[in-house]
Amino acid sequence: MTGYTQVWTPLDLEADGKQCDWLRVPYSTDLSGYGVVPIPVVCIRNGAGPTALLMAGSHGDEYEGQVALAALAREIDPADVKGRIIILPGLNAPAVEAGRRVSPLDAGNLNRSFPGDPVGGPTAMIAHYVTTVLLPMADLAVDLHAGGRSCDYLPCALIRSGGTEKEQRELADLAVAFGAPITSISDGSGGGGRTTFSAVGQGLGVPVLTAELGGRATLSREGLAIAEQGLRRILKRAGILPRIETDTATPTRFMRVRDRGAFVYAMHKGLFEPAVDLGAVVQSGQPAGLIHCIDRPWRKPEKVVFTEDGMVACRRAPMLAAAGDCLYKLLVDVEAG
Ligand SMILES: [Zn+2]
Repeated sequence: MTGYTQVWTPLDLEADGKQCDWLRVPYSTDLSGYGVVPIPVVCIRNGAGPTALLMAGSHGDEYEGQVALAALAREIDPADVKGRIIILPGLNAPAVEAGRRVSPLDAGNLNRSFPGDPVGGPTAMIAHYVTTVLLPMADLAVDLHAGGRSCDYLPCALIRSGGTEKEQRELADLAVAFGAPITSISDGSGGGGRTTFSAVGQGLGVPVLTAELGGRATLSREGLAIAEQGLRRILKRAGILPRIETDTATPTRFMRVRDRGAFVYAMHKGLFEPAVDLGAVVQSGQPAGLIHCIDRPWRKPEKVVFTEDGMVACRRAPMLAAAGDCLYKLLVDVEAG
């Protein structure tokens, strides 16, 4: 892994106290030849101890994590910290500013851009800096997401499968401390593969907890509360905020995606009329919804059916659907066959 990066910050990540500034990602344009993209970053350090890396806004239209991390950054008194907390509430800042999943600068999807590229576009440069500079400093990391404009999620934590037994136990303990009602164990087959933050975390041996806290580009109060309390419990458990008061975690239910059939797709364009809500328990063969033809409304709507049993953890938010849009994601209990 190269040590070269064009991203820089005047912050001294080894200094004690609370420092608020920006990462600077070079971005040269017609009207700003020496311009940079500023990415807000807060470093809170107090002496020796573990480091937590906390991120949100990797996708710009996902909000619970952005709000929870900004509040945490404001509220933490460095005197209460043992070690270091690095907080990036709006990691893909151009996407956050545009209210979009991907960056308007390079169409980069940050959580599909890892491990990144030091000489790529702004999104690839951010991913590379996180991979080669921030993540190696971390003893644990949290990356907060939601469904964005296209999906709505039952609030859940996500941990990656495939590590050593010790790594899996550590991730499960993190998820228990986070206290989301559901924890989904995933190998990235939903589309992220090896290009996600949690995948590079696994490669570097840093436990990464991800979460999907709501969706539809709005703010779920339930998801926000889970993030706020869950982050505090994780930091307390790590010994970074040893004295902070926390609520007791809600027991989490460990679930997983059974296989690709858990993802239900529209294969025709049209208006999606869902047949079930989030949290519904469905069976193979059960109607999932109808796709109404827009230009020939007299035509019989296309039926979509579930092809597996499971619980609806995620559902498409916009009515308008194109061929290839994901309509549902199902989860099953870990011990289910
Ligand atoms: Zn996301």
